[in-house]
Amino acid sequence: MPIATINPVTGEVLKTFDALTEEQIDVAVGRSLTGFRELRRTTFAQRAAWMTAAADLLDADRDDVAALMTLEMGKTLAAAKAEVAKCATACRYYAEHAERFLADEPAEASEVGAVRAYARYQPLGPVLAVMPWNFPLWQAMRFAAPALMAGNTGLLKHASNVPQTALYLGELFTRAGFPAGAFQTLLVGSDAVERILTDPRVRAATLTGSEGAGRSIAAIAGRELKKTVLELGGSDPYVVLPTADLDRAAEVAATARCQNNGQSCIAAKRFIVHTDVYDQFVDAFVAHMSALTVGDPMMDTTDVGPLATEQGRKDAEEQVADAVGRGATVRCGGRAPEGAGWWYPPTVVTDLTPEMRMYSEEVFAPVAGVYRARSLDEAIELANATSYGLGANAWTADPDEQQRLITELEAGAVFINGMVTSYPQLPFGGVKNSGYGRELSSAGIREFCNLKAVWVGEGDKADVDAATE
Ligand code: NAP
Repeated sequence: MPIATINPVTGEVLKTFDALTEEQIDVAVGRSLTGFRELRRTTFAQRAAWMTAAADLLDADRDDVAALMTLEMGKTLAAAKAEVAKCATACRYYAEHAERFLADEPAEASEVGAVRAYARYQPLGPVLAVMPWNFPLWQAMRFAAPALMAGNTGLLKHASNVPQTALYLGELFTRAGFPAGAFQTLLVGSDAVERILTDPRVRAATLTGSEGAGRSIAAIAGRELKKTVLELGGSDPYVVLPTADLDRAAEVAATARCQNNGQSCIAAKRFIVHTDVYDQFVDAFVAHMSALTVGDPMMDTTDVGPLATEQGRKDAEEQVADAVGRGATVRCGGRAPEGAGWWYPPTVVTDLTPEMRMYSEEVFAPVAGVYRARSLDEAIELANATSYGLGANAWTADPDEQQRLITELEAGAVFINGMVTSYPQLPFGGVKNSGYGRELSSAGIREFCNLKAVWVGEGDKADVDAATE
């Protein structure tokens, strides 16, 4: 992929960038290691002051950086502004809580023959972050804020279609006061990832992106014995049962599917509806999806902008065509308009069967697949009938059903009577082919730490008889 800003509204190439040379990458990795040696010696209070300054900069830059994201990948300006604000919140959250999350964990010193014994969280070093375009600021910040607060340094390889947002991020932390090298953007294509990850100075990697990219990075990291966190795709279920507030469930369903123009890993993608309320829910859902305003993402009145890339739209068109060709029914949308830009309308498809691509693939567009379930058991079975396991939404007022769904849905998150969302306070990540490891919360900041066992004794009383591995 060329490293370029291409306006998805028009398809026009606005700006192109050369990829860094091998020498430039080498210098940046060296700077990352030097920066790490400096950063690891700073106090939490110092890093918190810089992280808070980064949050203040985000607040000050909000309108400009939001417009840049909208220009580069087509999300609505309102959503982009909310994304910038959420990044500032995450910076402040980790500025406030990092020291507590990474506090020494005391152990029973006397039971291990020590005067003092505890576990200490320490940073690993330079971490490579390979990031997607769909939330260009937030995805990177979910890694950067906790990683820097822990004392790691970051090397960002961002998606090739959001280079200007990537450059903004590359400057943000230095502007906030962090040492040079603490966080750098490397404008490189995905072909440079292997070289960077195999560099011995790079200690770990995190990737948010597709399953294919995850497999590739995990294979390299496995060979190199490097820690990875993988946040991959999802095909989240949205289960609707008879006791649900159907009007609200249908309204939220449209937002859950079409947020970020349908391009969110945790967008609800498969709507599994109990047969008793199927017709009522589907009619209301189709009405809400049809009522969404598709248009210029810079306009306040727009709900859904274009897809971010030409390939993304092609994939959606092919998935819907495949389903229709095999007997599925399109209830609304389903046809890309003629003309410039990568538009695709909010679409609802019913009568899906297992041989259709939509049944098993992630659909990264505002296209909902609807399934009928005859019982709670069947709904859970359908919800879990995917290789993914990122989030799960379920609507029911019955407490027993709620507990079964919480326990039995195979996902990294279950939201009951609401839609899956990320919050700094809650862990975020997946199971199955949605990846492994967690971002956000206390779990996220501990991912790139060495949990070091510390034993302090009196040499003459050392328990040498207990010595085994
Ligand atoms: P993508 O094509 O996998 O790209 C993501 C990043 O990985 C980009 O920086 C890309 O670089 C790079 N990349 C792609 N192939 C690679 C490879 N073989 N080796 C190394 N790096 C590689 O994904 P995307 O289209 O940007 O994003 C959409 C996907 O991300 C969806 O599947 C979505 O569900 C998932 N996602 C997951 C989460 C989560 O938290 N679980 C969040 C957001 C998105 P180039 O741009 O240079 O190709």
